[in-house]
Amino acid sequence: MDHVVGIDLGTTNTCVAIIEAGTPRVIPNKGGYAITPSMVAISESGKRLVGHLAKRQVVTNPVNTIYAVKRLIGRKWNSTAGRTVAQTCPYTIVEGPHGDIRLKIREHVYSVPEISAFILAEMKMIAEQYLGSPIDKAVITVPAYFNDNQRQATKDAGRIAGLEVIRIINEPTAAALAYGFGKNLERKVAVYDLGGGTFDVSILDIGHGVFEVISTAGDTFLGGENFDLRVMQYLIETFEEDTGVAIREDRMAMQRLKDAAEKARCELSNVRETTIELPFLHTTPSGRHLHMHETLTVQQLEDLTEDLVDETVKICQRTLESAKLEAKDLDDVVLVGGMTRMPLVQRKVAAFFGIEPCKGVHPDEVVALGAAIQAGALVDSTPELLLLDVTPHSLGIMIVGGYFHRLIEQNTTIPTRAGHVFTTVRDNQTSVKILVLQGESDKAAENEMLGEFILSGLRRAPRGQVEVEVTFSISVDGIVSVSAKDLETGREQSITVTATSGLTEDELKDLVKQSQSYMLELRASEEIERRRQQAEKLIDTIRGLFPQVQEAMSGTRFGRDAIAKAEAVVQRAEEDLARGDARTLLDTMQSLDRTLGMFKNVMHKKSEAAHR
Ligand code: AMP
Repeated sequence: MDHVVGIDLGTTNTCVAIIEAGTPRVIPNKGGYAITPSMVAISESGKRLVGHLAKRQVVTNPVNTIYAVKRLIGRKWNSTAGRTVAQTCPYTIVEGPHGDIRLKIREHVYSVPEISAFILAEMKMIAEQYLGSPIDKAVITVPAYFNDNQRQATKDAGRIAGLEVIRIINEPTAAALAYGFGKNLERKVAVYDLGGGTFDVSILDIGHGVFEVISTAGDTFLGGENFDLRVMQYLIETFEEDTGVAIREDRMAMQRLKDAAEKARCELSNVRETTIELPFLHTTPSGRHLHMHETLTVQQLEDLTEDLVDETVKICQRTLESAKLEAKDLDDVVLVGGMTRMPLVQRKVAAFFGIEPCKGVHPDEVVALGAAIQAGALVDSTPELLLLDVTPHSLGIMIVGGYFHRLIEQNTTIPTRAGHVFTTVRDNQTSVKILVLQGESDKAAENEMLGEFILSGLRRAPRGQVEVEVTFSISVDGIVSVSAKDLETGREQSITVTATSGLTEDELKDLVKQSQSYMLELRASEEIERRRQQAEKLIDTIRGLFPQVQEAMSGTRFGRDAIAKAEAVVQRAEEDLARGDARTLLDTMQSLDRTLGMFKNVMHKKSEAAHR
């Protein structure tokens, strides 16, 4: 059977799940963990490290370790997000060739989808090892509030990782699917999803297998990372006040502080007070070692971050208003994302909705489980599951005066389409340039530009006579596409899309190829490693048998020759292993195998003789 996995590609952690015997199940990674850190690093020897391997070395290698890359996906170089990340993270971000953001690790520059692809490829491998068969299709979740550029870039990441992304679904919607799966519920629920980097809230009407999103809102730059920054800021200021030494330029100290801030924050979800001990945090140019010893209380943490939680509550208010509902109309509130373990978040959400949030779902796993349910439904064409989602942003075009003309309103059920008729404004005009945007501002410049479309090959005619109908559609993945038709002739028009961010088709194709050859090399080197381990085991076994075989064959000429031969084989094998000679490893293994066979034979004969 074709397996399709569901992947929750998170800012902090990533999780992969599958439907097994009708039940969604998270696939643990090699270390047995349900979630894998969304981190990528390149080691000094140029090796790619993903997940826990990357996280383990982040403090000693902060400059070459990328975390929270989801905050940058589909974003432009000159965006606020880009600037904030550049100022606060220890790794280097640079401008890409299409006004996009790229990451410089050691000597190499990577696009953001490439880094996300490394994480996805790791999840693909985890699933393949678990299932014992190749996986080439996935449903990937994204924050509901992601715009078209961010969705497209996520899809590109899947493609680079060798996965056909058969559907992109929204994280809160996926969580609702897992929450209602197999329960035949009839409820209105709010899904409050606060993760490491993003916040989403969706209101859904669930009834007899139909999951209908009524409204959604969010902030794709509000999550645990913002909370960490507040705590870090506080620690830095206290440290600088106490010591009179500025440490912001010390990247390793910043990374240790970030780790400590997050750890303290998580601890304060369970205890009233915690200490932050960072010995040798910074060494001054004169060689003075400075240490940090701080105490942080729940009250201090709440004072530092309360406005962030209030911001999420305001967004909840907006979503309810768009859904034309009041809090009392809801039957349940589902909490999703690691940040919802913070007591302040739970208190504020409960107070706003007037309901104790449901405790029945696992905040770290529920999104991946929902993605797996959707994957299963797509493969089996499950008739009893219907998902109706909405577009989080209005879609429109720029019109004269720099204004934004809406064609599709936010919270419209997707898939959807809208048409607009364009006429020529000059005599003999043969092309029209259209700017497509997403957002809620009336000013085009304040919205997210998705692309420039050039309608070309128009018939030469006096102005106003050529009418072209352009159709804008939003797919079920929330992805925008455009087509155009000459109304008079019925002819489809050619449309050129200029990438305003992300990757061009040629770049993508190149990256897919590079990724394929990397995976082949990786598999080959894993195979070599496996063989090496087997060879080492064989050598140990043969060495262990030497005394017995020597004794069994003592005195015979054949015995002396056989022992000498075996010794030569083992010695050669050891030399091969020491040289790391992969090509001869297979031959070596075969010789070792034959030697062991011969040894076993001798032992067997000896024991038979003894029993006679
Ligand atoms: P997610 O994106 O859903 O994996 O959530 C990750 C975020 O949840 C990170 O910012 C974590 O620091 C945060 N988080 C995880 N566990 C806790 C906890 N016990 N208390 C507070 N925050 C947590």
